[in-house]
Amino acid sequence: MAKKEELECSFCKRKKEETNLLIAGVDSHICDKCIEQAHGIVLEESMNEKKKVGNDFLVKKPKEIKEFLDQYIIGQDESKKVMSVAVYNHYKRLLQKPSSKEDDVEIEKSNIILVGETGTGKTLIAKTIARMLDVPFAIVDATVLTEAGYVGEDVETILTRLLQAADYKVDKAEKGIVFIDEIDKIARKSDNPSITRDVSGEGVQQALLKLLEGTIVNVPPKGGRKHPDQKFVEVDTANILFIAGGAFSGIDKVISKRLNMQAVGYSASISDDKIDEENLLQYIIPSDLKTFGLIPEIIGRLPALTFMRPLDKKTLRSILTEPKNAIIKQYIRLFEMDGIEFVIDDDALDFIVDKAVDYKLGARGLRSLCEVVLTDAMFEMPGTEEKSLTVTKKYAEDKISKSTIKKLKAVS
Ligand code: ADP
Repeated sequence: MAKKEELECSFCKRKKEETNLLIAGVDSHICDKCIEQAHGIVLEESMNEKKKVGNDFLVKKPKEIKEFLDQYIIGQDESKKVMSVAVYNHYKRLLQKPSSKEDDVEIEKSNIILVGETGTGKTLIAKTIARMLDVPFAIVDATVLTEAGYVGEDVETILTRLLQAADYKVDKAEKGIVFIDEIDKIARKSDNPSITRDVSGEGVQQALLKLLEGTIVNVPPKGGRKHPDQKFVEVDTANILFIAGGAFSGIDKVISKRLNMQAVGYSASISDDKIDEENLLQYIIPSDLKTFGLIPEIIGRLPALTFMRPLDKKTLRSILTEPKNAIIKQYIRLFEMDGIEFVIDDDALDFIVDKAVDYKLGARGLRSLCEVVLTDAMFEMPGTEEKSLTVTKKYAEDKISKSTIKKLKAVS
């Protein structure tokens, strides 16, 4: 048996008395100093691993991000471009973090705000980006949020959804994307001199500020106030990308007023630039959001501002058939699974688009209209000898005329 004084660290050969601690293995020993050093190496390796993960995000350049979006979203080129750059910069910022000591330039978050009518694809864009990056994605409705202590949900519950989407893995949630829908509904109601406090407006905006900027939040993992005993989970929002969306109905008047005022001031230069009165949203600038009722601090934390164009007939027609998971492609697949070949005439597609426009149903209505046209066939054909279905304009007309417009509106 080896003598006690001969014991030494198998790595650095320090004698036992030179160490604070010497741990015995099967036929070797390791001292406290070597353990510390090895731990450092493990940490460094795992940092490198994390950096590699970050690099994966950068594999896609802004143009490639846009190309990916193009597969799922028709038109909206301006918005896709702004989003691609914002997402790219966001992940570049994530990469910069570990080396932030070397330089003082700190890249700020590039949270995004999307302004456009409902059904123009705001949620779809945000969802598609999350899918591309393979990060958790949560949609929350700003209308249910209230200031802490009031009836409604606290802003922290936004992160509950994200945590759920990340299977409660905090590190995954911390790189996720949150889509805050209907951000316009928490605008300050300036024309309404509130009797009490503006609990659902400015107060919520204030509460959101920190979240958007980056802070450590105590998140109730089960959400709400129904589970008072739950343990809070700490989530750092510094690397969460927030995308806010809203219809901001009436903001076109704000833009128009501003443009007209500019036109008075600089009549010569502006009159050369023809203003497209049909789509004033394209001229939106941050100060319009302020006039609408968002507080400047919130606007500052959503630096990438972009807009969605209203969908015209041509776009609606493309939405039916072109995106990777276009509605018609989905029906073709559904019928195929019953061995049925499904064909729809161009006339019929045009007719469906016309109806969506007539009934002001937008893109969401396309799906409800297709359901109305195809439900009978989807009910009757499976299990019969009939192996093909061709939908003509007449067929579509018949089915739609049998349903009521009222019903269609309710579906949308
Ligand atoms: P918003 O969030 O603006 O209210 P959504 O993203 O929920 O709108 O859009 C509703 C549906 O309309 C989507 O699921 C999608 O099928 C369709 N849609 C809307 N705009 C487009 C578009 N530009 N390209 C493809 N599909 C679209």
